Amino acid sequence: MNPRLKGAVRQSDTLGRLGGDEFIVLLRALSERNNAVDISENLLKIFREPFQIDGRELILTLSIGISIYPENGNCASDLLRNADTAMYQAKALGRNTYSFFTKEMNEVMLRRFEIEEHLNSALARNEFEVYYQPKFDVKNESIVGAEALLRWHNPILGNVTPDEFIPIAEHTGVIVHIGKYVFEQALEFLNEWKNVNQRDYTMAVNLSPRQFRDKELINFIKKSLSDTGTKPDRLEFEITEGVLMIGNSYIDDALDELNELGVKLSMDDFGTGYSSLSYLRKYSFDTLKIDRSFINGITLNKEDCNLVKSTIAMAHSLDMLVVAEGVEMREQLTLLEKLGCDLVQGYYFSRPIPAKEMIDFQHTTNH
Ligand code: C2E
Ligand code: CA
Ligand code: CA
Repeated sequence: MNPRLKGAVRQSDTLGRLGGDEFIVLLRALSERNNAVDISENLLKIFREPFQIDGRELILTLSIGISIYPENGNCASDLLRNADTAMYQAKALGRNTYSFFTKEMNEVMLRRFEIEEHLNSALARNEFEVYYQPKFDVKNESIVGAEALLRWHNPILGNVTPDEFIPIAEHTGVIVHIGKYVFEQALEFLNEWKNVNQRDYTMAVNLSPRQFRDKELINFIKKSLSDTGTKPDRLEFEITEGVLMIGNSYIDDALDELNELGVKLSMDDFGTGYSSLSYLRKYSFDTLKIDRSFINGITLNKEDCNLVKSTIAMAHSLDMLVVAEGVEMREQLTLLEKLGCDLVQGYYFSRPIPAKEMIDFQHTTNH
């Protein structure tokens, strides 16, 4: 057993290795919760010191989950499961920390498992529908295209929001299949939309980091484009910085191939992550989407307004188009036009709507 672990616990405690990188510490006769806190903090402190292995320095992170008998379980298996749940929470908090198990945590986990289970068969059961939110030219308020946004209705769970199920689909990997479905639907719709209105639109599809690990991704996109006779420059992929931060060469390769194909790339949620300028320099993005949290404040405070103004200037100097997302009010639109923003999207014009409504939308409004 690792001497560091041994050094952190009391003589009367039990140490065990559950497997892989998971260990268990059994603390007997806890007089109060504080004992568990003290020991956890001690463990964290001890692990901050790097390990020397084969002449190399290794730094490990530690995440500790704590469950207490009898409040958090009467038997070993319940206590273990709940400690595990608490450990996930500690990891989610950024590692190198500890978490006590709580009832709420259990609810979150149960909900997660439930979603995961239903998500696996959702495609086969036809529970998904792709909605479309139109994008407008700021100057003349005409529709230039749309963003495809996925909706999920499950007979038991009801409507589940993408903010809840997309991260889970990412985690389990089903996003690869779901993403293909969204893409196929979106291309099919784009063609129908174009034919009905005799106009050229663009279609934006969100791509998750996990989808880049799919070796078939590029071929699949190529084939779908040629099967549907879609011009590549009508298609745009929205990706967040999270994709670029992974820093793997297969992502760079995929982005290069997408560029070569002639499809457009859009940096999504700009302003929320690191908003790294080096990414903008290194990769050739065609569009920058300013996150709605900034658009929300532009008419309310000078800071947001100035940030958006500078972001637009920077994007334009790098030859990128700027899309403002989350435009909800006329005043925001007016200000964005003054600031030189190119395209807008938001509830002021339309929420994401089903394909049928999107086709009618064009006919029934004067935008
Ligand atoms: P996102 O890509 O940033 O999409 C914009 C989100 O803002 C959408 O939420 C949209 O409905 C919402 N929105 C648009 N205009 C307004 C507005 O004026 N006010 C407010 N308050 N909200 C507005 P939605 O559809 O719930 O999607 C949430 C997120 O889920 C998306 O954020 C995207 O990251 C992800 N997502 C949705 N569909 C897909 C998909 O097919 N594939 C992948 N990978 N991710 C998806
Ligand atoms: Ca998006
Ligand atoms: Ca966003």
